[in-house]
Amino acid sequence: MFNFLLCSNHLTCYIYHPMDLQKFRRTAARNKGKLAAFLKKLDELVPEDMPLLVKAADREVWETVNCMKCANCCKTMTPTYTKADIGRIAAHLRMTARQFTDKWLKKEEDTGDWVNQSQPCQFLIDNKCSIYEVRPKDCAEFPHHNKKPFDAYNDTFSNNVDKCPATYLLVSKLKAKVEAEYEW
Ligand code: SF4
Ligand code: SF4
Repeated sequence: MFNFLLCSNHLTCYIYHPMDLQKFRRTAARNKGKLAAFLKKLDELVPEDMPLLVKAADREVWETVNCMKCANCCKTMTPTYTKADIGRIAAHLRMTARQFTDKWLKKEEDTGDWVNQSQPCQFLIDNKCSIYEVRPKDCAEFPHHNKKPFDAYNDTFSNNVDKCPATYLLVSKLKAKVEAEYEW
């Protein structure tokens, strides 16, 4: 049971890294524009070996980022809950789906998605996910670095570079690599 773990990549994140979230937020806010511009350009111009570049850069990211010292996604963002997520988590908590949504969720007006009423997430306890084994699919897949093709998620990464230190590092590494080695 991994009730102290958070995202899909946490299983590989045991290396301690003194993650300074205040510093991350300041640095990411400063560089978000440049990283977003790189991702925008990547919409039109994708290096042929992009999957290999992403794989190598992602491996490096998880050698230094430790989600258990971070949890910034759980503190500042909300997952979307599918019907299956709601049924599974409610049953785990011995609640009905209605009790569960009434207590913690709201429907987003523009999308109709079920999301948390407030942040940090109510299930984040002592910087750990208290429902890890039944967490929403969205949380299990976050930060989506393994999605294929990578560039189909550029908007997601662009939105997350100032929220997730792992995504910030990944996009920074890709930007440095692509700009150094390709005609760009
Ligand atoms: S914000 Fe990113 S680095 Fe931090 S816990 Fe979430 S997935 Fe891990
Ligand atoms: S359910 Fe909440 S605490 Fe658990 S991983 Fe998702 S956002 Fe984080």
